[in-house]
Amino acid sequence: MKKLFVLLLLLPVTVFTQEEKKVKNVILLIGDGMGLSQMSTAYYFNDGKPTNFSRFKHIGLINTSSAKEKITDSAAGATAFACGARSYNGAISVDTNLKKMPTLIEIIEKKDIKSGVVATSSITHATPACFYAHSNSRSNAEDIAKYLPKSGVDFFAGGGLKFFNKRSDKLDIYRELLKKGFILDTTALDPELEVRIAKKYGFLLADNGLESKLEGRGDFLKDATNLALTYLSKWEDGFFLMVEGSQIDWEGHATNAQGIIEEVKDFDKAMGEALNFAEVNANTLVIVTADHETGGFALSPKQTEDGWDYNTIEPKFYEGAADESVEYAAHTTTLIPVFAYGAGAEEFMGIYDNTEIFHKIMKLTGWNEAVVDENNQIKTNTPEINKRTFDK
Ligand SMILES: [Zn+2]
Repeated sequence: MKKLFVLLLLLPVTVFTQEEKKVKNVILLIGDGMGLSQMSTAYYFNDGKPTNFSRFKHIGLINTSSAKEKITDSAAGATAFACGARSYNGAISVDTNLKKMPTLIEIIEKKDIKSGVVATSSITHATPACFYAHSNSRSNAEDIAKYLPKSGVDFFAGGGLKFFNKRSDKLDIYRELLKKGFILDTTALDPELEVRIAKKYGFLLADNGLESKLEGRGDFLKDATNLALTYLSKWEDGFFLMVEGSQIDWEGHATNAQGIIEEVKDFDKAMGEALNFAEVNANTLVIVTADHETGGFALSPKQTEDGWDYNTIEPKFYEGAADESVEYAAHTTTLIPVFAYGAGAEEFMGIYDNTEIFHKIMKLTGWNEAVVDENNQIKTNTPEINKRTFDK
């Protein structure tokens, strides 16, 4: 009888743990500036090929306003994803009182979970920066770069070399990275590279942002995503990978519809790699979303002398964007779609705030348990889990 009682007592707890902790790997893909119209180009301009967006069954919407502005920028948007709290436009993982908030990568470092950051911008640009750095302003690229060697990031790929090796303060952060065990490459990313989990890898392939797709960037985003997954999946305890299609936003600012179409196609391919990985690796969650929409982009009918031609799509931007006195088109604040696939995907349905992406990830993985205190700070007495050094 006593045995039965103990069993009954244990049973619900076991079930709960299995339910809540089924996610081991998280891949978060952010299409910067990718609203519904931008992602819709994958359906109308994908050279007749099916888009990977059709593979998602769990879809939600997020409100992306920042703490101080109804219309967010990339910094406040990524701070919400990386820290689970709203801040002001321009903030890199600091709150409205300029206090540093622990980032997702800082938190999982304490649990010995591996992490990677991939972007087509400089790796110090607002979106990737929020996952490993803290700054009062997104424009402090040199300060942001200083965080990378001491951060928990194990794999990174993007641009921004000059913020590491040609700095105004003459510090050599490139060398700091080497000293921390990074294998660095500034020329190319070989998707077939033999990667070892005992090492860390960094690719800085341009002085600032990478080329755009229209300028001939090639398959960097897809290849970097693949290589990151090959590397990170060698770690048995799980990983977090952030992949940003940074330049969907830039083409939106430039009101370049063809540029948006090509950048979304590129993002779609990288997304396909993440979905293929999740298909064969259970316990993997793929989340695709954006920080905001850029340009008030619309897939409109063409205006002809005879009226509207509903069979010809003429991409347009909001009216003010065409004003030549305006340097570039701005962000808008339409709700942003969230697509989820794999373990825990159903959690991402509904309409909620962008900060919830962080909290849902933490709930599904349990990564912040015993690491973050009730004031959302990393506990000072968190025991560093002994780093295993096995190589596979
Ligand atoms: Zn953005």
